[in-house]
Amino acid sequence: MDFTFDDEHVELRDLCRTFAAKEIAPYAAEWSEQHVFPTKIFKQLGELGLMGMLVNAKYGGADAGYVAYVVAMQELGGADQSVACSWNAHSTIASLPLARFGTDEQKERWLRPLAEGTHIGAFGLTEPTAGSDASGIRTRARRDAGGWLINGNKMFITNAGTDMSLGVTILAVTSEPGEPKRFGTFFIPKDTEGYSMGAPLQKLGWNASDTRELVFEDCWIPDDHLIGDEGNGLRQFLEVLDPGRISVAALSLSLADAALRLAVRHATDREQFGRPIHQFQAVSHKIADMATEVEAARWMVFRAAWLADVGLPFGQAAAMAKLYASEVANRAASASLQVHGGYGWMRESEISRFYSDAKILEIGEGTNEIQRTVIARSVMGS
Ligand SMILES: Cc1cc2nc3c(=O)[nH]c(=O)nc-3n(C[C@H](O)[C@H](O)[C@H](O)COP(=O)(O)OP(=O)(O)OC[C@H]3O[C@@H](n4cnc5c(N)ncnc54)[C@H](O)[C@@H]3O)c2cc1C
Repeated sequence: MDFTFDDEHVELRDLCRTFAAKEIAPYAAEWSEQHVFPTKIFKQLGELGLMGMLVNAKYGGADAGYVAYVVAMQELGGADQSVACSWNAHSTIASLPLARFGTDEQKERWLRPLAEGTHIGAFGLTEPTAGSDASGIRTRARRDAGGWLINGNKMFITNAGTDMSLGVTILAVTSEPGEPKRFGTFFIPKDTEGYSMGAPLQKLGWNASDTRELVFEDCWIPDDHLIGDEGNGLRQFLEVLDPGRISVAALSLSLADAALRLAVRHATDREQFGRPIHQFQAVSHKIADMATEVEAARWMVFRAAWLADVGLPFGQAAAMAKLYASEVANRAASASLQVHGGYGWMRESEISRFYSDAKILEIGEGTNEIQRTVIARSVMGS
């Protein structure tokens, strides 16, 4: 076992750390307060080669692998969870269906602008009546005049409505009612007639990320917008959720780590009864517990990433990492806020933003109840 970063990982970490400290952290509170999606940051991430970390170099990506991706996520997510969650959706679930199942022509046309970072991608699975139950979606794609006619709604979709959005990759039912249910994956460019979206949804956290309901009303797309084979759509979507779980696990770890860092700083600076509060065992033990859990989560997340990089099965490890790291993130955010006392409850405090951003980590990209089901099935071999 080798737990050290190689030179490339250290270089990447330093690059992301410097960028996050200079360009993201100082403005994160303002973006969150004003609900502003920071387009400029994503263009800069593109210039730094960070918008296609998991995409083949042939299509403009860095092909850096999952360990490198987790390294970068620690720095971005430690500065701002809104930026990091948008980057997460773009880099994994939005880009990977095209990267894995697209034709060369589709990759040149849509994956390249995503990987080069001139545009940002979105992934549309969830619907108003189908969240955890992915196969219960109702959005329908019907063959029509050399293409497909799409009708239906998608709910809570990240990155679809920004001024650098390219379009959305959606899952739709392709079978007729009464037939065994079949699904297809389709790419819908942003300005397609019949594709519209609601206003940004107002959320408890991730306030600088773009989340909307998407509407498809007799939205016609040509046949070459089908990604992969008709009938394989659900399998394709479920397949990209595995790397998505590594990504949300990494996002969670970055939050837990940030909460720990802020608790240590406050416990050092804040004095009560004539001494820094970390000298009270009730405070220092909270910090010890946080640090221990963060460390355990770190190794689970990096191990899942490493398994993916070396081509070993990683589905179970990814689900476990997502489950554990997101729960550690919530415990750490709560304990850190407690260490901050009343100052932590103030909107202007950094920990209050991380606290608001933590809960969604147990819900997004498969709730933790669903992760437990996935893990149990894998452990039981069923
Ligand atoms: C900010 C935000 C961004 C998002 N971005 C995207 C995106 O970009 N693309 C996208 O497709 N989706 C996105 N989502 C949707 C997200 O993935 C879903 O919210 C999530 O999968 C849960 O679905 P649901 O909200 O419909 O909850 P439901 O599925 O209705 O679940 C409600 C509760 O019931 C529990 N439950 C349901 N079924 C079971 C079961 N079988 N066993 C045990 N418990 C169960 C759940 O765990 C949960 O606690 C986003 C959501 C949010 C809030």
